Amino acid sequence: MGQLGFYYDMTTCMGCKACQIACKDRNDLKVGELFRRVYEFEGGIYPQVGGYYLSMGCNHCADAKCVKGCPTGAMHVAADGTVQHDQELCIGCKYCVWNCPYSVPHYFEDKSVVGKCDSCKELRDAGQNPVCVDACIMRCLKFGDLDQLKGEYGTDLVQELPILPAASQTNPSLLIQPKDEALKPDYKKVGV
Ligand code: SF4
Ligand code: SF4
Ligand code: SF4
Repeated sequence: MGQLGFYYDMTTCMGCKACQIACKDRNDLKVGELFRRVYEFEGGIYPQVGGYYLSMGCNHCADAKCVKGCPTGAMHVAADGTVQHDQELCIGCKYCVWNCPYSVPHYFEDKSVVGKCDSCKELRDAGQNPVCVDACIMRCLKFGDLDQLKGEYGTDLVQELPILPAASQTNPSLLIQPKDEALKPDYKKVGV
């Protein structure tokens, strides 16, 4: 099997945040803690205005900066190629928090350790989907072999957007079906 990651169809996402909430519930997160976020962007000049949503968890990057700098091995690459985190080994130094260009690792003040999207590995190992994937009523999200996802969803997929870091930094395991607006540089984040 090749690299595993997320496919996200931005063109049909309606910003309902069911994926974000399902993830929060699955990971028993408190107020202000999220492992998946649905961002909202707006832009353009009247009358040519528009907007789009971006749902993002961890991108399980093939060249993950959080893994390279972790002094204890808490942040590591699992046998299936996903980026996983072991809270027993974490000393809460926050290196990964500072170095992830997508701001994915979350520092839990009360526990002095980090946590992040684990791609719902336990569920996947049992043959199920990540809960964010199953929660989406628009079926915008998929998780699987990136080459298979490319074969299924076509050649217009992108790994980066003007509002995201350059994919060359970490090679994110992420395939986005973009809206036209998301390929324009003048759009700004207006909500999470
Ligand atoms: S906070 Fe934990 S996971 Fe992150 S770099 Fe430090 S020890 Fe590693
Ligand atoms: S794969 Fe699991 S942990 Fe990751 S964003 Fe989806 S629900 Fe959250
Ligand atoms: S559940 Fe689906 S439609 Fe709703 S915000 Fe998430 S990806 Fe978009």
